[in-house]
Amino acid sequence: MPKPDCRQLLAELSSYLEGEASPELCREIERHLAGCPNCQAVVDTLGKTISLYHTLPEEDVPDEARRRLWRVLHLDLPPR
Ligand SMILES: [Zn+2]
Repeated sequence: MPKPDCRQLLAELSSYLEGEASPELCREIERHLAGCPNCQAVVDTLGKTISLYHTLPEEDVPDEARRRLWRVLHLDLPPR
C-alpha cells in the first residue's frame, strides 16, 4: 500500500530528475525513496525510460541527479 506521501514524491520526481528541485526537496525525496520499495520500483521503471531518452542527442536529465538517485536506490547505473 503506497503511503500518502508517495504520490507527492512521485509528483516531485520529475523536477528532481531534471535537477530543478531544491536541495531540501532532494533530501526529502532521497530519504523517502531509501525507505520505500514502492517508489523504488517506480523509479526503477522510470530510470529505464530515462535511459531510453539517452538515444537522443540531448540529455534531459543531468548526470549528477541521475547518479545520486541511482546511488540512493542502490541500483546499477544504466549503461552510457
Ligand atoms: Zn513511497
